[in-house]
Amino acid sequence: MGPKISRRDAMKLFGGGTLLAAMGATGGCASASEPATAASTGGELILPAAAAGDEYTLPKLPYGYDALAPTYQERTLRIHHTTHHGGYVRGLNATLTKLAAARQAGDYAAIKALSRGLAFHGSGHVLHCLFWHSMTPTPSAMPAELARAMEKDFGSVAAAKAHFAAATKAVEGSGWGVLAYEPLGDRMLILQAEKHQNLTFWSAVPLLVADVWEHAYYLQYASARGQWVEAFMELANWTFAARRLAAARRAMRG
Ligand code: MN
Repeated sequence: MGPKISRRDAMKLFGGGTLLAAMGATGGCASASEPATAASTGGELILPAAAAGDEYTLPKLPYGYDALAPTYQERTLRIHHTTHHGGYVRGLNATLTKLAAARQAGDYAAIKALSRGLAFHGSGHVLHCLFWHSMTPTPSAMPAELARAMEKDFGSVAAAKAHFAAATKAVEGSGWGVLAYEPLGDRMLILQAEKHQNLTFWSAVPLLVADVWEHAYYLQYASARGQWVEAFMELANWTFAARRLAAARRAMRG
């Protein structure tokens, strides 16, 4: 099967970084309800607020800490957001500072550890930004465009949900289930991520992510990861996933 996108689109995606810029994979995160602006294509999803030199920031949740209870309890959500997500933001900024110092000194003795930290903390920040929006206190019906994409690539919406839940439950160690759009093949994929950064499919744009690190569920669900994944599926924000799918496709056409 030949490539489905033009050379111009491929250059835009892989050369210019347009898609990543459009998806706003930098800085803080906006509320899903914030309107898009001309300066932030796809900004209704995640706001690329940080200018060059700015530090990454911990975004506010798009709902209150008690908004997902009892399915996802207030204490678990609060600790997860402030301590764990906050830790990735601090780690990411600290790593960038150390990389700058290494460049200045011309001392790359620690480059392997710093590169590893950049991927770990950076991916942890991005995935948590997406995770808060991947759940909603007011779940709604599957949007038609997302349902059609699931039917095309997974056979049915039910099969897509079952595949996603199974992949998420089966993550080895700490990691994530990821529903993604892969623009090179114009298809949806379901991926696992180990830790935050391993098992990457580089072009894939995450649409909906489920955290199965123990810190995500152990206070409430203890060792019952499967129950937590089923609870996540009840909270899943398919409207958010559909908006990201549309934004990713728009970025490819633009
Ligand atoms: Mn987490």
